[in-house]
Amino acid sequence: MQTDTSNIDPVEIKKFDDLASRWWDQKGEFKPLHEMNPIRLNFINRCSPLQDKTVLDIGCGGGILTESMARSGARVCGIDMGKAPLAVARLHALEENLDIDYQQTTAEAFASEHLAGFDIVTCMEMLEHVPDPASIIHACFELCKPGGTVYFSTINRNPKAYAMAIIGAEYIMNMLPKGTHNYRKFIRPSELDIQARQSGLELLDIRGIAYNPVTHLFHETHNVDVNYMIAYRRPEGEPA
Ligand code: SAH
Repeated sequence: MQTDTSNIDPVEIKKFDDLASRWWDQKGEFKPLHEMNPIRLNFINRCSPLQDKTVLDIGCGGGILTESMARSGARVCGIDMGKAPLAVARLHALEENLDIDYQQTTAEAFASEHLAGFDIVTCMEMLEHVPDPASIIHACFELCKPGGTVYFSTINRNPKAYAMAIIGAEYIMNMLPKGTHNYRKFIRPSELDIQARQSGLELLDIRGIAYNPVTHLFHETHNVDVNYMIAYRRPEGEPA
């Protein structure tokens, strides 16, 4: 199958490919994803219980969220354009005895073959790494069944987000490798919402994920200044 590569940033894919072996190191470069994961899983399960649902995880990487959704009783497929993260994800699922379908493809290419194919579509911490986030948001709409839910998480764009997510996380706390994030690629909730609405999605809920530098713990909050997650519903009865 020919995958259209126009909405892929090869520098971003290489960044994650190079770090892939570290994906499941709870104290390594992906520590923030490990620590945030129970909060995102809880948010998803609260808005749309995962038990017996079909789920597509877009930009799944090494499978942190993907595996936790499978453990929650969902039938999960994970897609990513990074070869090495997918290899890590497949091996880890095998070791954990989890049946997850991992495929190397883009959201757009997958959507053309699986219109309205999933009860739940998740796309976490990926929109800020792609050239055209609106195209991914539209593909998520297409992939979701009418009545289903779509989730995104990304980073807000404002001086506080710059201070916390780049200066704080990459330069002071060394939580993330320097250069992980590009401030200009951060997305305000209002910008994400415009694209989601244009695609036909309806806002369900939005929550922040905040980091406490004293306790070193993440927690869910109503404050969406920095990291946030957002849930949408695809209305019933819309043509695919
Ligand atoms: N969603 C996972 C991983 C986030 S890291 C989590 O939150 O735990 C971002 C992932 O997006 C990386 O694995 C990277 O390879 C992938 N990615 C970046 N651009 C992509 C694109 N255009 N298509 C598919 N995957 C992409």
